[in-house]
Amino acid sequence: MFKKTIIIIFIIIFLQPYAYGKDRLKIVTSIAPLAYFIENIGGDRVDVTTLIPPGGNPHTYEPTLRQMNTLSNADLYVKAGSGIEFEIIWMKKMEDLNKNMSLCDASEGISLIETDGHEADNEHGEKGEHEDEHHHHGRRDPHIWLSPVNAVIIAENIKDSLSGADPENSEYYHKNASLLIDKLESLKNNITAMLGEISNRKFFTFHPAWGYFAEDFNLEQIPVELSGKEPTPERLGRLIKKAREENVKVIFSSPQFSKKSAEVIAREINGKVVFIDPMSEDYINNLEYTAQLLQENMR
Ligand code: ZN
Repeated sequence: MFKKTIIIIFIIIFLQPYAYGKDRLKIVTSIAPLAYFIENIGGDRVDVTTLIPPGGNPHTYEPTLRQMNTLSNADLYVKAGSGIEFEIIWMKKMEDLNKNMSLCDASEGISLIETDGHEADNEHGEKGEHEDEHHHHGRRDPHIWLSPVNAVIIAENIKDSLSGADPENSEYYHKNASLLIDKLESLKNNITAMLGEISNRKFFTFHPAWGYFAEDFNLEQIPVELSGKEPTPERLGRLIKKAREENVKVIFSSPQFSKKSAEVIAREINGKVVFIDPMSEDYINNLEYTAQLLQENMR
């Protein structure tokens, strides 16, 4: 009798994941920060695949054959929708691969800001005609996810799409989304408090990923890279001069990008390069850590 019960319990425990696994939503997304939102809202009702690996560059990445295969079985694709090159180049092909896949546009309801390009117009010899065709199309900044304010909108878009794809569990997705949104709101308040005391609100970044973040916290991002290109020697000279004038001691860079010109500027101003990551999947901790690095290094 006792043995039988144990066997039955074992069967229940071991078969459970298969029963669950069957109707989990299979979701594919472009970048790791979006996977964080999907996993937090979808919980144990979703299987998430991220196409661009950690450390991968969303401006140049290409999907593998195996990823194309995963796509052909997906229920839902969550795209950033803000104009990252990867999606501009691949989204149509990926949709054609799986006509049954529904689409969630994470950027719906977010107003896109202008990218670094406009600064070039004021600078002699660096007008738009040199712009890299594969970078930041339409001159809109694609890095929407780095703003906690936008993150709340993204969370709501994902919640709506999950509920649409799996209405039976809608209540579960709503509950998870409101927990996540609470966390994002306290994240915003924490960072506002952390950065409140900084008097010089300009910061230099190699890759201009932090425009939306800067907007949330009343900071000003000065990009080293322009339209996806290393600066010319002339521009580098101007940046060094500007950094000296602004009494800046740190150039922020990110692990996805070459840091040579960031190091050149840092050396010239007797400063250093500090890494901040725009692509981390550990979204909340990463933004808090980023704010901590800004707080320590800005003055
Ligand atoms: Zn970028």
